Amino acid sequence: AKARGKNTYRFFSQALNDAANQRLLIENQLREAIREQQFILYYQPKIDLAEETLVGYEALIRWLRPDNTLVPPARFIQVAESTGLIVQIGEWIILEACRFLARQHSRGYAVSVSINLSARQFNDEQLAVIIEQVIRRTGVDPAYLVFEITESMLMGDTDAAIKQLNQLKRLGVSLSIDDFGTGYSSLNYLKRFPVDELKIDRSFVKDIPEDQNDMDIVAAIIAMAQKMQLRVVAEGVESEAQAEFLKQNACYLVQGYYFSMPLAEQELSQLTFNIKTQ
Ligand code: C2E
Ligand code: CA
Ligand code: CA
Ligand code: CA
Repeated sequence: AKARGKNTYRFFSQALNDAANQRLLIENQLREAIREQQFILYYQPKIDLAEETLVGYEALIRWLRPDNTLVPPARFIQVAESTGLIVQIGEWIILEACRFLARQHSRGYAVSVSINLSARQFNDEQLAVIIEQVIRRTGVDPAYLVFEITESMLMGDTDAAIKQLNQLKRLGVSLSIDDFGTGYSSLNYLKRFPVDELKIDRSFVKDIPEDQNDMDIVAAIIAMAQKMQLRVVAEGVESEAQAEFLKQNACYLVQGYYFSMPLAEQELSQLTFNIKTQ
């Protein structure tokens, strides 16, 4: 038993070591990625079903390694977050997304761009200043910028969260609650936050039209958003039936593979949607 305990210990300590080494490896690679500018933004169309028009894009980061592999955010965002490297990467994301927006607008497209914020970024007192500088530098109209935050970022210190949201709102940008329904925000909380948009999480959309429970939840979120005069967006729409259900329930803003995967900027010209113009 003693020998077994020792082996078990060695096993776990080895596993921990591997996990720690793996993290350190990714951390060092991320530092190099920042230096070498190996990040790239992909853009997923946001469609308005009422107008049958492309009205915006969500910026989604990828890491293009020197060996040409495209690493999805799930594989590095957490390490970036826990090491604080996300703040630097996040600044680049905001700048790059605004430059993209400026290019779209210069072509006559009145589209918006949605930018995901991590918890570290959201908790940074300098965030509004950073965004303001990027807006000034790129000359974009802040009315076309959307910042996505998750419910969990609003929980902890709600007074600080409200203060940050107000600081962002003062810039003229709009704010969206991402992955809505997966956190714990009560309606009471929601009323106190100056947000403009709710994004219904993909987990509630994916089993439509088979799961009546999910359909009821989605219909309830849509009704609630309307009552609170919030825009509502459904993410992860993969089928015509899902799009049809959402439209029938007056959720007109949608994103998902049914319409388009996230694409590199140079691939956007292959899209066949009408694009919103001024
Ligand atoms: P998210 O913000 O909820 O983004 C939606 C994710 O769902 C994206 O994955 C998108 O590619 C994927 N998706 C879109 N439509 C569909 C669909 O119809 N079906 C399915 N199965 N998936 C769909 P992605 O790009 O891998 O990003 C994953 C997460 O990583 C994001 O979730 C977000 O939390 C984070 N992330 C991505 N880009 C950024 C960024 O620039 N900054 C920060 N802080 N986080 C980011
Ligand atoms: Ca998002
Ligand atoms: Ca989401
Ligand atoms: Ca999600």
